[in-house]
Amino acid sequence: MIIAANLKTNLTRKESDEYIAELEKFLDKNNFSQEVLVFPATSSLNSHSGKVIVGAQNAYAAKNGAFTGEIGLDHLEEFGIKTILIGHSERRHIFGESQEALVKKFNFYKELGFKIVYCVGEPLEVREAGNKVMMEYISTQYEGIDIGYENLIIAYEPVWAIGTGLTPTLEDIEVIHKELKQKSHAPLLYGGSVKVTNAKEVLACENVDGVLVGSAALYVNHFCSMISYAQELNK
Ligand code: PEP
Repeated sequence: MIIAANLKTNLTRKESDEYIAELEKFLDKNNFSQEVLVFPATSSLNSHSGKVIVGAQNAYAAKNGAFTGEIGLDHLEEFGIKTILIGHSERRHIFGESQEALVKKFNFYKELGFKIVYCVGEPLEVREAGNKVMMEYISTQYEGIDIGYENLIIAYEPVWAIGTGLTPTLEDIEVIHKELKQKSHAPLLYGGSVKVTNAKEVLACENVDGVLVGSAALYVNHFCSMISYAQELNK
């Protein structure tokens, strides 16, 4: 399974290094086989070798250039980063990244062979409009995306569940994941208020290939427990 931590705008580089070192210690001690990804804040990116895969939360679709406030491929290559998160709801909704911009970014990093965690998910009003409207909305987030890309991981993250403590029912997760698996055979993660208290049951859901965790992942011991749950489930 794939267990991923989105550290968002938290933890300095020193703190992120310590966090990743803790994870490495944990993985070594237990000899776990799960794929563990960590997305530190941009200024906390650093070179790393070990079992943990370090990825970028964001980067511009360019090697370098006049894109104030962004980083490009050169900045990722400096640290050997070959994994990127694209389409997170905070990028879509807070920073207004359009599907067109996301597709451009996706294609740029795909051409370079990056592992891409591509996020999809609906806001509350769409959810409340019913299953048909919701699936149509999510389908638009697949437009222009090469769903057969070999290094693609998809994360289904309902916007209303992110950082709110709310989650869909396990049954809803299974229904949506089943539908999304028909769109793409890429590994499909669930994200949105996964905590140490619900991770095991979420991971056990059919068609859930892992989790993308935000706030709860800031506690390294909680994140380690989630990795243990995945190992126990041995899916
Ligand atoms: C996320 O930001 O990807 C996320 C899932 O956040 P949280 O776990 O805090 O809901």
